[in-house]
Amino acid sequence: MTRIVTAVVVILLAVIVALPVTPGFWVTQLDYIGLASLVVLGLLLLTGISGLTSFGQAAFVGIGAYAAAYLTAHSGWSPWLTLFAGLIVTFIIAWVLGAISLRLSGHYLAVGTIAWGLALFYLFGNMNFLGKYDGISGLPNIHVFSLSLSSQRHMFYLIWVVLLLCLWATHNLLDSRPGRAIRSLRRGAAMAQSFGVNVPRYRLVVFVYAALLGSLSGWLYAYMLGAVSPSPFGLEAGIEYLFMAVVGGAASVWGAVIGSAIIIVLRDQILNGLPQLFHTSVNFELIAFGVLMVLVLQYAQDGVWPLLVRGWERIFPGERRQREPPPEAAPLACRTRPQSGTLVLEVDAIRKEFGGLVAVNDISFKLHAGEIMGLIGPNGAGKSTTFDLITGVQLATSGSVTFLGQPLDGLVARQIAQLGVGRTFQHVQLLPGMTVLDNVALGAHLRRPVGVIAAALRADRRAEAQLRHEAARQLQRVGLGEHLYDEAGSLPLGQQRIVEIARALASDPVLLLLDEPAAGLRYKEKQALADLLRRLRDEEMSILLVEHDMDFVMRLTDHLVVMDFGTKIAEGQPADVQKNPAVIEAYLGGLDDEDGAEAGPGAADGQEMG
Ligand code: ADP
Ligand code: MG
Repeated sequence: MTRIVTAVVVILLAVIVALPVTPGFWVTQLDYIGLASLVVLGLLLLTGISGLTSFGQAAFVGIGAYAAAYLTAHSGWSPWLTLFAGLIVTFIIAWVLGAISLRLSGHYLAVGTIAWGLALFYLFGNMNFLGKYDGISGLPNIHVFSLSLSSQRHMFYLIWVVLLLCLWATHNLLDSRPGRAIRSLRRGAAMAQSFGVNVPRYRLVVFVYAALLGSLSGWLYAYMLGAVSPSPFGLEAGIEYLFMAVVGGAASVWGAVIGSAIIIVLRDQILNGLPQLFHTSVNFELIAFGVLMVLVLQYAQDGVWPLLVRGWERIFPGERRQREPPPEAAPLACRTRPQSGTLVLEVDAIRKEFGGLVAVNDISFKLHAGEIMGLIGPNGAGKSTTFDLITGVQLATSGSVTFLGQPLDGLVARQIAQLGVGRTFQHVQLLPGMTVLDNVALGAHLRRPVGVIAAALRADRRAEAQLRHEAARQLQRVGLGEHLYDEAGSLPLGQQRIVEIARALASDPVLLLLDEPAAGLRYKEKQALADLLRRLRDEEMSILLVEHDMDFVMRLTDHLVVMDFGTKIAEGQPADVQKNPAVIEAYLGGLDDEDGAEAGPGAADGQEMG
């Protein structure tokens, strides 16, 4: 992977060296590829990685271009000043548009971006001071020191230096604490909130970042042509950028360059080549692009870049993947855990209704520091919903939860995580394409703040080293030290659950909620898990455990609450609960005779119940 990046850089250097003898046509093509790559890089982050589809990116290119054109042509500003003005204007407009349209989701968001994309386009075309549909012309050249960038050959250098810097910054951003949060937006937003990720804020950040890249491209475009008019900033261009992003794929920032290059070169060949070939003047562009889109979606859903990487690895095999754990780093600050016996969690008559169904029916219990409490009951009893109510994933219909003396009413998942509540999910919620280490480092999100700008400029390496070291430490603790760099999705489901535990531990919780952690584990793995939970209890961790393996529960827990149909039917010491007729009835469905009592949960050692 690093070698292929080296290859790309070598190709770029070769192009730069050969530039003085490259035909003018290809220089212009390279300029356009560079300009488009900037916009597509933003889209890659916004749509490919964060899952927020935007058809309106071309409008931001227009804002950058028009700001540059207007301020130089009418107010005589220097080109460099207009860059900053354009970026500021874009920042403000993107912030406002983002704050409004990101409340929408899925295709509503896409429709929203079409709406403001069109609105801005018609604004460019109808404002007198922007020259209406004729636009603004006669822009001066950009000067770098005393050098005037008067030709497209000169502009090539500026465009590609800017592009390479942006590729570098975006790559850095993705490989950082904010990057992990951003990569969770598409498929793991709910999970990420439970680890303190401020999802709405990151969505807005990504939106503004993409808009700024578009604006930068517009600024370069305006001075490359010396003129602007509305037509390149319409919906059609917006669709084409999106198309480039899909073709390139979001697996790497280089997808932006590949996608732009393929579409721009192809478009030109189709526009000029095909009609000549068939002696007609029919516009083949749309048909060819349609076919290409179908092919890409069918055979290369992750875009063309991963295909190139695979081809490369076939030709040059044997690149070793990183195996060493991350180097030692200063430990992250830890919470002081409450003393053994302190009341940690008090659940008071919480209730959750889904329409007519009462999933959780006025459940109350208390959990103390250094205690493992089991919450058991047949499937559908309301255990997972109870977890969701405690952790703020769902809003309770009534009742209250108090954590370390603080009521959690009105707090969202992110705030509850911040107080020291860590959890796992019954249905594993890892980011399957990310490494195990990165998944666990996401759990430590709140323990070491790193800003987006610091991450993009790679000024975060000390913090990042600490986060990675902590993630590795937790993975070694749960026995997955061998799998740090595996893709999380490649592990067996049982181990993925253990990764979730490591992720929860990385958040340094006071209270740990585990939803069926032993499901899918083999006997030895279950024993190792039980040992781990005992060690955590000895460190004054409070653990609330949902589990169907009765042997596991009976041996491990200090206290049990049994639920059935949303209602608490028993509570107490495991040995007592085990003999409780109501519990036996719930598990065995009405066998209330002597035999049934014998076959209660306790007798079902090692079996999966419910
Ligand atoms: P458990 O974890 O004990 O198996 P759950 O808490 O998942 O049970 O579910 C309790 C009940 O609530 C079930 O009947 C389930 O179908 C229902 N339920 C859970 N989530 C929802 C939801 N989002 N909408 C409607 N019903 C739900
Ligand atoms: Mg459940």
